[in-house]
Amino acid sequence: MSTPVRRQYLALRAQHPDALLLFRMGDFYEAFDEDAAVVAETLGIALTSRPLGRDEGRVPMAGVPRHAIDRYLEQLVAAGHRVALAEQLGDPDGRTLVERRVTRVVTPGTVEEGALLPAGGHNWLVAVAPEGDPGGGADGGRRWGLAACDATTGELECMTLEEAALAGELARRLPREVLAPRPGAEREAADGGGAETALPEGAAGAARITARPAREFAPAGAERALRERYGVASLDGFGLRGMAAAVGAAGALLAYLAEGWPEALANLRAPRPIEDASHVGLDPQTVRTLELFESPAGPEASLIAVLDRTRTGPGGRLLRARLARPLRDAAEAERRLGEVAAWLEAPLERAALRRALRGLPDPERLLGRVRAGSAGPRQLAQLRTALAALPEAAAQARAAGLGALADELGLAAEAEAALAAGLADDPPAETGGGLALRPGFAPEVDGLRALSEDARGALTALEAAERERTGLAALKIGYHRVFGYYLELPRGRAGEAPGGYEPRQTLAGAQRYRYAPLSELEDRILGARERLAGAEREALARLCARVAAEGAAIERAAAALARADAAAALAEAAQEGGYARPRLLPAGPIRIAGGRHPVIERRLEPGAFVPNDCELGGPGPDVVVLTGPNMGGKSTYLRQTALIVLMAQAGSYVPAESAELGMVDRVFTRVGASDELAAGRSTFMREMVETAEILRRAGERSLVVLDEVGRGTSTGDGLAIARAVVEALHHRPGGTPRTLFATHYRELTALAGLLPRVANRSVAAAERGGEVVFLHRIEEGAADRAYGVHVAALAGLPRAVVARARELLAQIEAGGAAWAAESPAGPPAAAEAAQLALPVPPAPAELALIGELADLEPDAMSPLEALQRLYELRAEARRGLGREG
Ligand code: ATP
Repeated sequence: MSTPVRRQYLALRAQHPDALLLFRMGDFYEAFDEDAAVVAETLGIALTSRPLGRDEGRVPMAGVPRHAIDRYLEQLVAAGHRVALAEQLGDPDGRTLVERRVTRVVTPGTVEEGALLPAGGHNWLVAVAPEGDPGGGADGGRRWGLAACDATTGELECMTLEEAALAGELARRLPREVLAPRPGAEREAADGGGAETALPEGAAGAARITARPAREFAPAGAERALRERYGVASLDGFGLRGMAAAVGAAGALLAYLAEGWPEALANLRAPRPIEDASHVGLDPQTVRTLELFESPAGPEASLIAVLDRTRTGPGGRLLRARLARPLRDAAEAERRLGEVAAWLEAPLERAALRRALRGLPDPERLLGRVRAGSAGPRQLAQLRTALAALPEAAAQARAAGLGALADELGLAAEAEAALAAGLADDPPAETGGGLALRPGFAPEVDGLRALSEDARGALTALEAAERERTGLAALKIGYHRVFGYYLELPRGRAGEAPGGYEPRQTLAGAQRYRYAPLSELEDRILGARERLAGAEREALARLCARVAAEGAAIERAAAALARADAAAALAEAAQEGGYARPRLLPAGPIRIAGGRHPVIERRLEPGAFVPNDCELGGPGPDVVVLTGPNMGGKSTYLRQTALIVLMAQAGSYVPAESAELGMVDRVFTRVGASDELAAGRSTFMREMVETAEILRRAGERSLVVLDEVGRGTSTGDGLAIARAVVEALHHRPGGTPRTLFATHYRELTALAGLLPRVANRSVAAAERGGEVVFLHRIEEGAADRAYGVHVAALAGLPRAVVARARELLAQIEAGGAAWAAESPAGPPAAAEAAQLALPVPPAPAELALIGELADLEPDAMSPLEALQRLYELRAEARRGLGREG
């Protein structure tokens, strides 16, 4: 019999199998059993023993005094241990057992103080989780969500990154401990929780890797926990949209702390998204305004629609992933461009590759089904078809000079051979009939199939024998779904049925019988069929397992296929669009000669799009203030510049004569007015929120594209804000972001004379015979006019309104007095309208008034009558104008 305290100890011990348990007993923390040996050894203290119940006798024990616990904890954790502290929750009265609970688990990532805690750095506790869709990453590599918290400072950061960047990020943060999910729920149940995780080998460096249950990383549960923890209805406000895996990782951190250090939770601040350092940061707003993937103008008007000539699912996904996450690293982007160039220079090979890829099943998704155990014979056959195309793709890649790619494409040869050897040429959708596998692959299946074929032969033999025995030539064997096999005679011969034929079913023209030897045969046939189905299922599962064992190789080959497809597609688009290979430099100015908008140029006649140059940074200006007529092409120019930069950094050729680009780290756009009334923000508010974000985050190496910022408010406020924004960008500490600022505030062009890195550009327009011609040409200097009234007329604004606008504009330009003069009380009188060469038809009410005036006979009125009439007419006129009194 153990003592109650011993039982309490053992229960707590079992709850924390992977930690040393220090059990508070009065003024000491005691370790028992094996823990005692470890503690004594690590701390260099005495190992003693203590009696704990009759059956157990004395157990080993090592104790440390409570007042010195911090120092000892530090030593234990530094030696790589996790330590669980079981506290007394009440005062022992000597009679009843005092309650004890583990209140704190101290691990390398959760130390509070002492030498382990670097004073000048963070003590990061990091959790990582792979993203759900293994095919979602660039180049087929997996992406990971990462959450890092420093419980001592309360920081909590979330990010998403490629598997290849994981080790770098961990090396940068140098966490003491990394939490990672134990792979696979089944395995967790099977071995009771090993230390194995899906973390790539070596990624965690010297950090302790702590395997945690996969369910703690599930994004849905994590999101709920975070929302609860921070009392918010949605995590969107934290900027965590689209970061499911990182949110999951943050949830795992929270769960870990809740278990081992609940107090630290109270200290945690709201999670903050951190950008992945290897890709260009694009906010959702920028993705929308640049119409990378969607356009309000229709499915054909997005950038992806122009570029996507891919032939396979993985290729299409990869191209999208690349555009969504252009690279920051010039060398890596150049490598991608090299592949595009190779396909561009090998048109025959490219055509052959694209022929081989056409209509190819999606190997990544099929592999997913094989791994999930839900692939049938048809899916395996599709996978075989996909893999069978790889050697041809590899041959073309090699011929195009892409040897390394060809090698990768060859990796799935074994899987393909296994499928070719195992699977029938044209297998049925379902197993069961013994036709899914190739004869010879599974002898037991072949045997059972022969048996069931034999049985069919036996049926024919039985039929022949019975005919001969009975002399009834009309006798035949049939099969009924419910009744099984039967013998049948025409009704007329039913009387001649021999003994042993038991009547079973009587039809209009026939009598059916049961016959014992036939029933025996039936049992044999059905038994064989069942065994055949079972054996076939098993053999297929074996084949699936063989293919799954080649999963990593298939993944790499499929990723190579995606790369080949995407690069060849970009080569195709480049050839058709007449694109040029950009020259990418790690840093430096943006220099584009003859740039075009890839989508708009396709909507115009060939050659109609006017190419434009752009120079930002270096010897050129950092900030360009772009003015010019409405409809002149300002927005087009802004967007095309951003698109060319993004395309280049994604590894695509660009619509330009030439482009030399210093890599940008982020692209920000604030273009046009996007309503977000549903989100509770006015258009102007939205505009300012986005502008604030840009000012906060844009750096020296960012590209900032601002279109008419400050337009949604009064002219004075708008102008003031616009100027302040340009100044803030210009003066930004650390360097001015490369900025294109389109505006209709001509006042802003004065900034070029005041700030050294600001220059004016304008869109050219010419007036010919009173008509404005938009030249769409970007020129040096500021625009003199906006031609807004002209565009309004083109748009079909009522001519009277246009005329009035012209008049006002003339007054403003003459001296700005227009606003001082009162607006006319109504539309211009007929004579005035004629003078403006604009007949203005009066409204019916006005007509009535004019009619009444015309009918007046002042001579026939008394002065009082005339005055009275005048008052009436005035009242009528005022009513017409909506003025009271
Ligand atoms: P606003 O000030 O009214 O917003 P904008 O100056 O921004 O006008 P855009 O919207 O860029 O003008 O361009 C208007 C139209 O002019 C485009 O839809 C396109 O058809 C045409 N356009 C723009 N740039 C060019 C160009 N470089 N070559 C040919 N056509 C162009």
